[in-house]
Amino acid sequence: MLIDTHAHLNFSAYKDDIDEVIKRTLDNNIWVINVGSQSTTSKRAVEMAEKYGQGVFAAVGLHPMHLEERKVDISEVDPQNVFKTRAEEFDYGYYKELAQNPKVVAIGEIGLDYYYKPKTKIKLEVFKKKQKDTFLQQLKLAKELNLPVIFHSRVAHKDLIGLLKDNPAVRPDKAVAHGFVGNLAELKEYLSFGYYIGVNGIIFKKIEGIDFEENIKYLPLDRIVVETDAPYLSPPRAGERNEPLFIKYVVEEIARIKGVSREEIEEKTTQNAMELFSI
Ligand SMILES: [Zn+2]
Repeated sequence: MLIDTHAHLNFSAYKDDIDEVIKRTLDNNIWVINVGSQSTTSKRAVEMAEKYGQGVFAAVGLHPMHLEERKVDISEVDPQNVFKTRAEEFDYGYYKELAQNPKVVAIGEIGLDYYYKPKTKIKLEVFKKKQKDTFLQQLKLAKELNLPVIFHSRVAHKDLIGLLKDNPAVRPDKAVAHGFVGNLAELKEYLSFGYYIGVNGIIFKKIEGIDFEENIKYLPLDRIVVETDAPYLSPPRAGERNEPLFIKYVVEEIARIKGVSREEIEEKTTQNAMELFSI
């Protein structure tokens, strides 16, 4: 059995065949956590978890990318409007109510994303401050509800780790650095907090300055969880649209790099996910 700890079957990419996708996921003995990125997709993740019952869970949160209106290709909710993300203000009460549903296993994905950043210095400061403030509010919510956190961090590990160090009152006891892309020093920082590292199909890509093999070799087996980030990051031999079934390619690659059996990765990562998300 496997647990895909980070998928977005709640996104519009699956609107035509979601029942079949979920069915083949569960039929192949894979459980899935659908992760919200804004108010609409968080709500949908919860509704799906309720509808499909055993093996389908939800995480709710506001992704930093949705704090401003920007032109990026991210067709999460409205397939007619693929080039615009809409701006959302974090509504503590709204997310709190959603997060109290028993099928919600985490607050996420939340964090910092400096990839598409404003060019002027003043705008950049405002942009970073808004992300940090919203992240801290959501950490507070996770603390209040005693839920683990799914971190999203893109070219922002230094600031995210800094916030965790500076704000021990809201620093989560349990968390995962989802789809980790960073260097060994940054990886060690997350591990020092006792956090997990989420590994997905991005490890098949070449990213300048990043050595995925080195990171995976270093990672202790009891700190890894696996994920797809579907519909994104489909592994090379899989279909164009990713789905939980393709998690097997990530498992095989970790097993190859670590020189252990696929079964061992399967068993350990499932155990880790159950512990992290209390499922
Ligand atoms: Zn994601």
